[in-house]
Amino acid sequence: MKTPVKHFLFSIDLEDVRLGATNGLSYEPRVIQNVEKYLKWLNHNRFTCTFFIVGETAAIYPSIISEIISEGHEIACHTMHHKLISCYTPAEFEKDLEDNLAILQDLGAKDIIGFRAPSYSLTLQTQWAYDILKRLGFLYSSSVLPTKNPLFTGWPQFGKSPKITDQGIIELPLTIRSLGLISVPFSGGIYFRLLPKKLIGYFARKQRHNEPLIGYFHPYDIDTEQEKFMQGGINNSRFYNWLMYYNRGSVFDKLDAILDYGYKVITYKEYLSIEYNGRV
Ligand SMILES: [Zn+2]
Repeated sequence: MKTPVKHFLFSIDLEDVRLGATNGLSYEPRVIQNVEKYLKWLNHNRFTCTFFIVGETAAIYPSIISEIISEGHEIACHTMHHKLISCYTPAEFEKDLEDNLAILQDLGAKDIIGFRAPSYSLTLQTQWAYDILKRLGFLYSSSVLPTKNPLFTGWPQFGKSPKITDQGIIELPLTIRSLGLISVPFSGGIYFRLLPKKLIGYFARKQRHNEPLIGYFHPYDIDTEQEKFMQGGINNSRFYNWLMYYNRGSVFDKLDAILDYGYKVITYKEYLSIEYNGRV
């Protein structure tokens, strides 16, 4: 019997890390080179994926946004300035998202229905954001880390599985797995780089067939040539800064290993059409 395909909701959070650092623009711009590497990997495997794009990053690199659109990938929002939702009033958040939508639409994106909060900052306290997403026409969000975590606030009470929120938005929370006493979002960012390939593969194999593997990656996650500087959003912690640069060279090898376990990358929009057709 043929094994059913597992869905890997691989995604790129497209942001320029320099913008969060002190004097960040004095460092070499690296977004285009790194996005090109992801596009090459996606092309090679004949996948399309979802790009959650920060508006101010799109403004700096309009050509790469056009290329992403022309290659058929899904465009979604990741706010205008990459601030935590808790930093906004509801009115400010709405204005920010309108600006984020406008700049992406000006660059040619159509039918934007997806949103991801910076640093998974959609939590018990900021769930008012769903009302605004609904009002602006979004259908889904992938913004919740459903566990406690030293790096992000998290929303443990949300539950691990995707669901339709009371406000009618489909939330696709980040995939987590237990590692001893803690749960880790192993399928993206720092944890993906930190954990050994065998453990990532083991976790990926443990996913049930009807549960998508939700992964997030940044341009910098694969950038082995970026100059060293203190990144923003980590309280000037030298340890976290070390983690930000750790094991970037391992990402594509681990991604290929996930594919070996029967996963196929699809866009979030495509996943919705398979799993929620007509339900929102
Ligand atoms: Zn981000």
